[in-house]
Amino acid sequence: MVVLKTTREIAAMRDAGRISQQALRLAGEAVEPGVSTFEIDSIVRRYIEEQGAVPSFLGYGGFPASACISVNNVVIHGIPSKQTILKQGDIVSIDVGARYNGYHGDNAWTFPCGDISHEAQALLDTTREALYEGIKRAVAGNRIGDIGSAVQRYAEPRSYSVVRDFVGHGVGAKLHEDPSVPNYGTPGRGVRLLPGMTIAIEPMINAGSNKVKVLSDKWTTVTADGSLSAHFEHTVAITPDGPVIMTLP
Ligand code: MG
Repeated sequence: MVVLKTTREIAAMRDAGRISQQALRLAGEAVEPGVSTFEIDSIVRRYIEEQGAVPSFLGYGGFPASACISVNNVVIHGIPSKQTILKQGDIVSIDVGARYNGYHGDNAWTFPCGDISHEAQALLDTTREALYEGIKRAVAGNRIGDIGSAVQRYAEPRSYSVVRDFVGHGVGAKLHEDPSVPNYGTPGRGVRLLPGMTIAIEPMINAGSNKVKVLSDKWTTVTADGSLSAHFEHTVAITPDGPVIMTLP
């Protein structure tokens, strides 16, 4: 069931979005060679709790941390660890959510660790632009398939692949609500977009094949072929005035 939000609820969600975005920004500033992903997670948790908010992911389905931190071939759901020390040239996907006044914000970004290869930078640029292509189609009267096809049509001609096994989602009082928001699809197909819908659009784009596998820890999701993967996400409200990104400063 899709939950439509009132204008007032969307305004409240902006606070959760702002806290989520700021936590993600601080996490990104901490990305440098020699830093552990555990340290970055600690920064995220401390900031969110200082704001009187709650890390959305901590304990969600048993997830043991406040941020998902996914390095290089890890697509999503990387578990922060003192043993995972960032190195020059890594790409580091960080996914952060915060709940504040009853609503969640959800956002992700892939950060370079020091100087990265041209290939890695191109993957980051394409995934970020694919996200914004999707957001442009998050317009009342369009359908979910318009968003996914825009992401797909941006990424695939650049010889990247779009992960199918994980998708975006509605977000609001619950972290994951209807509808599902795939990063692939057919224009004009799927759930119709209505004012008051709030969705997380989050392309996961691989340099190689779109196949992924989940490791034995039941969380860490990697590319099956070991290729690099990037992940960018914003929480977006569909309004009569067009798409509004909620996860902004
Ligand atoms: Mg999400």
